[in-house]
Amino acid sequence: MKFNTKAVHAGEKPDSATGALATPIYQTSTYAQDAPNQHKGFDYSRAANPTRQILENNLAALENVDYAVAFSSGLAATSSVLNLFKQGDHVVASQDMYGGTYRLFKQLYEKYGVTFDFVDATNSDALQSAIKPNTKLVWIETPSNPLLKITDIKAAAAIAHDANARLAVDSTLATPHLQQPFSLGADLVVHSTTKYLNGHADVIGGAVCVKDKTLYEQLRFWQKSVGSVPGPLDCYLVLRGIKTLPLRMDQHSKNAMTVAQFLQSHPKVKRVIYPGLQSHPQHELAKKQMTAFSGMIAVELDASFEKAMAFASNLELFTLAEDLGGVKSLTCHPASMTHAAVPKQERLKTGFTDELIRLSIGIEDADDLIEDLEKALDPL
Ligand SMILES: *Cc1c(COP(=O)(O)O)cnc(C)c1O
Repeated sequence: MKFNTKAVHAGEKPDSATGALATPIYQTSTYAQDAPNQHKGFDYSRAANPTRQILENNLAALENVDYAVAFSSGLAATSSVLNLFKQGDHVVASQDMYGGTYRLFKQLYEKYGVTFDFVDATNSDALQSAIKPNTKLVWIETPSNPLLKITDIKAAAAIAHDANARLAVDSTLATPHLQQPFSLGADLVVHSTTKYLNGHADVIGGAVCVKDKTLYEQLRFWQKSVGSVPGPLDCYLVLRGIKTLPLRMDQHSKNAMTVAQFLQSHPKVKRVIYPGLQSHPQHELAKKQMTAFSGMIAVELDASFEKAMAFASNLELFTLAEDLGGVKSLTCHPASMTHAAVPKQERLKTGFTDELIRLSIGIEDADDLIEDLEKALDPL
């Protein structure tokens, strides 16, 4: 089955009880049993819920693997992956990553004796040199948030596997429509379904997709034991969002390319980071491992910090807000908002400055987005 067909159909059949074409929202905590422990595969919704199960089967199909486990947030999904490891294990992670992931690693897992090294994952030699005898996991985020760095998934997988470690890829910014990490050697793929997969900025959710059955069973056990599960309505919404994922991603990507080109040619713009631009340092790699470049742009203006912040607030179609990947365009100041947990000296090492502004390009008409940007840029 081709990707667009899977997005609409995978894991989903008309409801067996009623014929309902849309997946019912099984808003129930529990299920009637015929006799103690004799039931239809569902006993309690923390352990399993039909709406959630359909979403999980759909996500697994999109990533082309057998298993997916849905979580209450992207960070709950990330945390389930970290819980596959134990005190004394070492993780090599990409330096540029979502601020909440960094906080989870540094402020929580380090406390439990897992150690981390953060490296420039775009440099395979740096990744390789960070490997230690006790390295059990290589964690990459590509494209990364907020600098949109691209890591070579195939090279990272080879380095991880050479060391008997696993490779986990946070593929949130790409989605399975634009990037298929398992085909490049990943062992685990993590998504914040909050972002493009749901796509409408009305759900918090996450998922881990996995090829290996043993790992899958451990993740499932973690999900059931900890209870970091998404509710059935949220699962329904993500499942519904996914049906238009390919259409939305194509429009996000097309709009972002148009906006990035406009910004690049604007005299008030100092630097535009977009993997689809020739000027992006990993543009060739992005072309190789992604089918389009998604909808995120990072930009630095040729203006004072105050003026750059005024620009971010003065936009009208773009709303100043955390989050990304929805149909509506957003702008964000990562240093003070999404990445406030990352220490400044760590940020500056990767070129993530106080001036950086992040744009999440929606699916509106690109002409209107450019007009809005122009109106806010011109007075600078
Ligand atoms: C938002 C985000 C997360 C965290 O997801 P939540 O659903 O907010 O918990 C993880 N990784 C990336 C790349 C993100 O953008």
